[in-house]
Amino acid sequence: MNSTLETLKMRLAEVVDLQRASALLSWEQQTYMPSGGAKARSEQLATLQGLAHRLFITDEIGDLINDLKNVSLQWNYDTDEASLLRLVERQYERERKIPSQLVSELASTTALAQEAWALARQNDDYSIFMPHLQRVIELTREQAECFAPYDNLYDPLLDKYEPGMKTSEVQMMFDGMKEEIIHLVHAINSRSDEVDNTILYGKFDIEQQREFGLRVAKQFGYDLNRGRLDETLHPFCTHFSIDDVRITTRFDSEFLPSALFGTMHEVGHALYEQGISPNLDRTGMDTGVSLGVHESQSRLWENLVGRSRPFWNHYFPQLQMFFPDAFSTVSQDEFYRAINRSEPSLIRVEADEVTYNLHIIIRFELELELLSGGLHLNDLPAAWVEKYKDYLGIGPNNYADGVLQDIHWSIGAIGYFATYTIGNLLSVQLFDCARKEIENLDADIAQGNFEALLHWLRENIHCHGSKFTPGELVKRITGNSMDAQPYLNYLRNKYSEIYKL
Ligand code: ZN
Repeated sequence: MNSTLETLKMRLAEVVDLQRASALLSWEQQTYMPSGGAKARSEQLATLQGLAHRLFITDEIGDLINDLKNVSLQWNYDTDEASLLRLVERQYERERKIPSQLVSELASTTALAQEAWALARQNDDYSIFMPHLQRVIELTREQAECFAPYDNLYDPLLDKYEPGMKTSEVQMMFDGMKEEIIHLVHAINSRSDEVDNTILYGKFDIEQQREFGLRVAKQFGYDLNRGRLDETLHPFCTHFSIDDVRITTRFDSEFLPSALFGTMHEVGHALYEQGISPNLDRTGMDTGVSLGVHESQSRLWENLVGRSRPFWNHYFPQLQMFFPDAFSTVSQDEFYRAINRSEPSLIRVEADEVTYNLHIIIRFELELELLSGGLHLNDLPAAWVEKYKDYLGIGPNNYADGVLQDIHWSIGAIGYFATYTIGNLLSVQLFDCARKEIENLDADIAQGNFEALLHWLRENIHCHGSKFTPGELVKRITGNSMDAQPYLNYLRNKYSEIYKL
């Protein structure tokens, strides 16, 4: 191998190691760390992330990239080498613009803000979190300003999670979807008696829930020799290498869907990370290409597989055996309709497929206003309530179910929410492709056989890691760019059947 490339890879591996060690500390903070550990942990994260950043933006790495650019003209676009150079050059240019000191400060500020958020949420007291959020927003704005000039201050933030995506594109997409979704919500509301989901509330033993969730996870293809499941306030998936991909979930002993679909969702993320080609290990390409594409994988398994009729053909009899008191007299059709009940609600992570994207649009619009300075933090809770009433017809009467419900702002993840909707749209576009290319996909799923689907996802998406941009990847697979229409069609068809619209 080219020795310059070899040196570059060695340097990148060191940066990746530091980032992964930092991710491990974050995972531990959310799973097992006593809250008293927050201050020390914030310092450790600041040190590690600052160090990783300084190591990455060195002149040496810049010189290595430049030296390789001439040689790379002979490399085929699709090769690992050419892809690595494209990605590193892009990231290098981006990161060079941000001072390492700011990276460290954001890391320590958000580690503390996260604890404050958890406490504020527990006590339903926004004032505990507000000063932390103030600081997070100031630093985030400072970070975005490093990328001037831009069309919109929000562009660089969005670009971090969804490379290449512009705020104006998201705005246009959301404006196009909003009306149609609200129309569907109203149509469903007028027939709300069609579906009852009281069977999903009751007593559901947590050990039984865990066992059932793990059974499904393993059958989807999640390798537990290279993964594990823990419990957290806010479920997530994280990885420290291709061979160590962990998920968390949140059990509710009185409401089955939380952990059931939450686990399927995180497994979808984990399958992506576990499926990346080992050749990309420790290069920085060994992770999902964007949050939107990542979310397409979690939503595909959670909704397009997990909330489908074929899936429950296979699993409902098993679920009945796990929870005979709750389901022995319930029909499969009744259960299918219950888990797909659509109703305006306050909590995003528990929202159904129809209303979910309205929760995202609300957050996206609020973030834009916060960043532009048009919305003051004192007025944020009220603005939240107002938007919920506007779009969903209901509003929270406490902070925990309102402005404090998500962890994202506390961890500095501003510019992130839009990727959830991007993921929903892509999940349908990609699943439509898989369905065309895999013979009898529904019949496979109805037998609890996911091999062909996982294989298709591995070949077309997972194995590539971050080799291609999200736009390139979607184009390679679907022949098109991202499009909201297939998703809207899917919603309309599915819910017209369930609600007899
Ligand atoms: Zn997700």
